[in-house]
Amino acid sequence: MSSLEVSEEVRQYLKTPTFDNWQWEDAEIMVLLQVMYTDLDLTVTFNIEPEVLQRFLFEVYRRYNNIPFHNFKHCFCVTQMMYGLIWLTDLRSKMDSMDLLIMLSSAVCHDLDHTGYNNAYQINARTELALRYNDISPLENHHCAVAFEILERRDSNIFRNLSTDQYKRIREGIITCILATDMTRHNEVLNKFKSIVPVFDFSSREHKDLLMMVLIKVSDISNEARPMEVAEPWLDCLLQEFFNQSDVEKLEGLPISPFMDRDKVTKPSSQIGFIRFVLLPLFIELANLFPCLEPLWSSQHLEHLETYLLKRKCAAFERIFISCVDSFCFSSEAFSS
Ligand SMILES: [Zn+2]
Repeated sequence: MSSLEVSEEVRQYLKTPTFDNWQWEDAEIMVLLQVMYTDLDLTVTFNIEPEVLQRFLFEVYRRYNNIPFHNFKHCFCVTQMMYGLIWLTDLRSKMDSMDLLIMLSSAVCHDLDHTGYNNAYQINARTELALRYNDISPLENHHCAVAFEILERRDSNIFRNLSTDQYKRIREGIITCILATDMTRHNEVLNKFKSIVPVFDFSSREHKDLLMMVLIKVSDISNEARPMEVAEPWLDCLLQEFFNQSDVEKLEGLPISPFMDRDKVTKPSSQIGFIRFVLLPLFIELANLFPCLEPLWSSQHLEHLETYLLKRKCAAFERIFISCVDSFCFSSEAFSS
């Protein structure tokens, strides 16, 4: 399959957040990634030659590891959600092409060479990455460094026809976006974004940078915003990676993250808190800026939350569910006023 052979139907489907990644092989996924660059006009605008784009994507593919969750398919899902969000919110009319190139490329590169062990492990186990980056977002710094290693090679440098100033801007942008995916910075990024949403100005560089950080974060944790048949296998993959880590932590006598411990975690318990306290607050804030996203997400999230709560037969089901519905009603009211 080449990018020219992708049907119009698939091109349109690719722009939707209900896209099912599980139907596609890695080779096809690579073509779909090319389609994203082409259909956003990035290949023409930045003179990205097809063979350079293919080589870049192949190098990216090679540098994702064969691990349960943070693999090439995850890279694709995050990029596809970013791509879908760009279309859904009509960002092409609000941001310049350089911003779109930064967003898409950051998503592609955001977990390069992830080892399957999170930052807490890296720091506690005093890994090479933790030592190199002085415990400061070791993984995210590494993902970013690997991205620019790939881009240092001329035959895989999709930015090779950019001016020095453009390259500088794209490097800054990608670093900012990828470093924002460190979940320990979640509240910092969310709170900054919250404070600017009421006065958001698309002519402000600072505002747009924050929006780009929020968009990559949302895309990164957006599995639960997808249909249940797409989301649930991803949760199995994530738990498998978490359990692998906690098993190693037990063996090595390192502190164990409670949400990774196979003896303590169940699928519903892991997701209920995550959806309520991490996902919903972030998505609600983004939907405050883009009301068009609200109906789409509220139904998916609430449906998933309901499913997990029912599975757990949670006594507090009604109270929690109603409070989440209230949050959405509240945000909906804010849109209409
Ligand atoms: Zn990720």
